[in-house]
Amino acid sequence: MADEEDIDFNFDELDGEPDYRVTIRGDRLMLTYCFPWLARGGPLGKLARDRGKDGVYIADLTIADDDLLVRVHASPADASGAEGRLLEWAATVGYTRVWLPSGIVDLDGVGTVAEAAAVTCDSCGIEWDDPTPELWEQVHSEHSFPRCCPVCGTDLPQWQTRPDKSRPVSHSPRARRPAPRPSTDAMQRRRP
Ligand SMILES: [Zn+2]
Repeated sequence: MADEEDIDFNFDELDGEPDYRVTIRGDRLMLTYCFPWLARGGPLGKLARDRGKDGVYIADLTIADDDLLVRVHASPADASGAEGRLLEWAATVGYTRVWLPSGIVDLDGVGTVAEAAAVTCDSCGIEWDDPTPELWEQVHSEHSFPRCCPVCGTDLPQWQTRPDKSRPVSHSPRARRPAPRPSTDAMQRRRP
């Protein structure tokens, strides 16, 4: 059950920089490290917010152990699709809870192996799919699919998955704790 003091958690009390900026456009979820110069307030912040008019969802993510705290900078009028994609991804890579502005989502089936997973590099066009058990171990321990194409060095979107059990089921709170940053390395074999 939820503690009242956890429910009253204030995002403004977060210390330091968020860990990631996430951009969701359709089913494409791009994860990058969060830098201080990224648009938040002022004229740049307005440019970021305006991306929501084109259906783009942009948020900063702060990792707190297995929890993911979300601060939204741009959102479509109906954010349900983008939030669903974010929650699906979060459960697949191993987060247990996601703190959305609308509420705290307790994820079920966390860290399950998706029925299918694949990504195509926007730069060189190579397609990676069919993760090995070793890659799934890495994904679950680092809470991220590999974020760099080892062929061309370009940033990769997070893999598209078809999870069987990774569905948000209920709301409950959790205290914030510090957590390590995922790394970006190993990659996966190419589909023949
Ligand atoms: Zn590439």
